[in-house]
Amino acid sequence: MRAMSVVRTGPAESTPLALSDTPRPEPGPQEIVVRVEACGVCRTDLHVVEGDLPHVATGTIPGHEVVGRVEVLGRGVERYRIGDRVGIPWLHRSCGRCRFCTTGRENLCPTKEYTGYTVPGGYAEYARADEAFAVPLPEGDPAPLAPLLCAGIIGYRALKVAAPPAGGRVGFFGFGASAHLTLQLAARLGFETIVYSRSPTHRKLAERLGASEVLEPPGAGPTSPAGRLDSALVFAPAGEVVLQALGELDRGGSLAIAAIHLSPIPPIDYDRRLFGERRIQSVEANTRADAREFLTLAHRFGLRATTTTRSLEAANEALVDLKAGRIDGAVVLDPRALGPTGHPGDRSG
Ligand SMILES: [Zn+2]
Ligand SMILES: [Zn+2]
Repeated sequence: MRAMSVVRTGPAESTPLALSDTPRPEPGPQEIVVRVEACGVCRTDLHVVEGDLPHVATGTIPGHEVVGRVEVLGRGVERYRIGDRVGIPWLHRSCGRCRFCTTGRENLCPTKEYTGYTVPGGYAEYARADEAFAVPLPEGDPAPLAPLLCAGIIGYRALKVAAPPAGGRVGFFGFGASAHLTLQLAARLGFETIVYSRSPTHRKLAERLGASEVLEPPGAGPTSPAGRLDSALVFAPAGEVVLQALGELDRGGSLAIAAIHLSPIPPIDYDRRLFGERRIQSVEANTRADAREFLTLAHRFGLRATTTTRSLEAANEALVDLKAGRIDGAVVLDPRALGPTGHPGDRSG
């Protein structure tokens, strides 16, 4: 099968991924093999190919927002039949026995495995999943479903751990795939939504998606009255953004960081920025319950990802564009589309 796999980790601009011809995955017991229809490009993929995450092996196939159809059933599979539409998320498998797994915190399992990092992912024509960790998905265009599987679920978990009061003010810092879905969700749940972004096209998208307010990031233009937010959600992988967001938090406010990798946070002035029972919490992966809850809400509210589709072979370029903030919403790879060999692989939707 065709796959884009890591040749050597390094800056996305140095084309760390190359097209390879690798054997189609074989399902183990209770595993399914899925023919990939679309795979979202997540910021975590950038951290994989650039080597920000430890121990990225040569040959790693990234991609953990996989939408496809079940093509092969492993021994003992009970939940799926051939042809079913499924999604494969980041959490490939957890141990099921440790003190985290047995207390509803499988996202913290120390021996969990990850799709598109420790297990081959969806930048390929086929991908393998544990049936207990795959999720059923509806029919229809596969591209807008893909970003729900990580960007959407992680944003939902960030909102959940931030736990703003009903009708409270929620701020969004870093307006990428995750924020553009979480904004829609928060608005539908009755929160006031305030998006901070410097990018004119991201600001326009936030307005179109119904943000209550769209502002320049604090310190980069006219400043908003400090202390206006009940919760801040930080999606940018930059420590200084955490400091900016803290400055916008009201007393008793919460800040959730939805990033798997973050540059160091500059020193925090406790008296000014943290005192008043403000709290900071990171978000690590998600549980299957988070996935179920979010996908139910996404369906009920009709949340829709804004996507740009590229061919599988254009994965390096997609990562470079993501890194540069040139993507509005999310970028999705279509392994069925032909590569840059004379066929258009670039479509918007
Ligand atoms: Zn465990
Ligand atoms: Zn992700």
